[in-house]
Amino acid sequence: MNSFERYVKTLKEAAKKIGLDDAMIAKLSEPNNIIEKTIDINKDDGSVVSFEAYRVQFNNARGPYKGGIRFHPEADIHDVKALAALMAIKCAVVGIPLGGGKGGVKCNPKELSEKEIEQVARSWARAMANDIGVDQDIPAPDVYTNPQIMAYMLDEYEKTVGRSEPGMITGKPIALGGSQGRDAATAQGGVYVLQSLVKKLGKNPSDLRVAVQGYGNAGYHAARLLHAAGYKIVAASDSKGGVYNPEGLDPEVLSQTKKEQGSVSQGNLGDTISNEDLLTCECDILIPAALDNQLREDNASNVKASIILELANGPTAPEADPILREKNIHVLPDVLANAGGVTVSYFEWVQNRQQFYWTQEDVLSKLQPIMEKSFEAVFETSQNKSLTLREAAFITALSRIVEVMQLRGL
Ligand code: NAD
Repeated sequence: MNSFERYVKTLKEAAKKIGLDDAMIAKLSEPNNIIEKTIDINKDDGSVVSFEAYRVQFNNARGPYKGGIRFHPEADIHDVKALAALMAIKCAVVGIPLGGGKGGVKCNPKELSEKEIEQVARSWARAMANDIGVDQDIPAPDVYTNPQIMAYMLDEYEKTVGRSEPGMITGKPIALGGSQGRDAATAQGGVYVLQSLVKKLGKNPSDLRVAVQGYGNAGYHAARLLHAAGYKIVAASDSKGGVYNPEGLDPEVLSQTKKEQGSVSQGNLGDTISNEDLLTCECDILIPAALDNQLREDNASNVKASIILELANGPTAPEADPILREKNIHVLPDVLANAGGVTVSYFEWVQNRQQFYWTQEDVLSKLQPIMEKSFEAVFETSQNKSLTLREAAFITALSRIVEVMQLRGL
């Protein structure tokens, strides 16, 4: 099953539970638009190369399409379609007025100079200028794209359309209209959701051991925020391996070790473990914050954690879900757990439209109630209907999307 087929499977199961008809399921099983272009850039050596560029606009019933742009040599259309669909679900789970989209360029940025990457960014923005915009489709960073690339895209788009429109893209540098708090937003949103569950379960953070797979933006900030809230970080990993220490690890020391020695596993901070070991290590909370498809049929039964906080997109394969459910593991699903990122992107868009900028405190004071309210709605649905949190999140989101589609007469 490819990632889009997995989305359709989850959609159909959720749709059955809320009695959606076949026409609506069919409508939610295909994107509204797939835009494909070829872009050319001049290489530093004088040659010209072409890349495939695309944007998938999945559903905009609740508001403009929203989602990242990736620069990746294997940017697969099934993945992009699935990620675009999941953006629509994610925005609906947290109740922000945006739809779902995703895009990219099939290129290897590791083989391009900074000047060549700038050309890719500018060409993408020019090629898509008629299809994106503050009220139409709002891109953001994703794999191998960053605030600087968003800045090039904003600049090129504004030159092409001939007006200032900072809200056409999010994840910008702060000096160019980015939002305070965007850096840690994904982890912060996940922490609010996790804290809500921990409270419901009557557990004490200081009794809970945390293992984090992936020590990048999402993983590092999650470890940092949870450590500050009294949780014990016992394991962390990155692409080169991991470290386990039952006495606890300091997130800042892990970060420094990764910076100076290339990996959290290199600082003699505990026992060296593999990424596979990390998933099944002795802990209470497991946070996959790296890649998709990490918890599968072959390893799910060995997970020891009682809570999984999915900061990565799609870390749990569909076949693993029933195994985790059987083991009574609470899985806080990606569409809820990592939705703090898109929520602060929404705040950035709002600030750009108002031309009035908020402090970090403003951002957090608006993020917390959104995440907690979204958790409550999903948790209640899961309890009332005996569903997993993932099923409940999908149903909550689909009901909201379908309601507006029906109001629009679709
Ligand atoms: P990042 O590039 O900052 O960090 C990724 C980390 O994963 C790095 O530490 C890398 O070493 C590690 N990694 C790579 N391969 C690995 C492997 N095989 N095993 C273990 N670790 C590995 O990325 P990020 O922004 O933190 O994103 C991580 C995940 O969170 C992705 O799935 C992303 O889609 C998801 N996510 C991120 C955001 C966000 O705002 N950053 C928002 C929503 C979802």
